[in-house]
Amino acid sequence: MNPNDEKDIFQKIIDREIPAEILMEDGQCIVIRDINPGAPVHVLIIPKKNILRLAEVQESDVSILGSLLLMAQKFAQTHGLSKGFRVVINNGPDAGESVPHLHVHLLAGKPMIWPPC
Ligand code: 5GP
Repeated sequence: MNPNDEKDIFQKIIDREIPAEILMEDGQCIVIRDINPGAPVHVLIIPKKNILRLAEVQESDVSILGSLLLMAQKFAQTHGLSKGFRVVINNGPDAGESVPHLHVHLLAGKPMIWPPC
């Protein structure tokens, strides 16, 4: 939960209080299409547990962190992303974090440059 105890937008999506295109789901996380895509394929893998950001995770969250990446792999396999995909976590204001609920971006569908900044 964020500091003012209001549900963030992703928690509302997880709780089905606001709509989103939910593409995959398991006990630990959901995968939704990003509302403002930065690539032909741009989805967000979001833990159901309300963790603010990577900097706030605890040792006990290790299985959640693993499941986010396994879900990324599963999404890539089931959506035929054999030419490549990128996973990104924006942590904090300098990194461009805009929603205070941990999430992994998965981008694909076009050649990408590196570094991204
Ligand atoms: P961040 O900037 O925090 O790393 O990423 C937040 C992402 O969430 C952005 O790419 C933004 O487009 C996406 N986003 C923000 N609000 C919504 C929403 O209500 N629905 C969906 N599907 N994506 C959202």
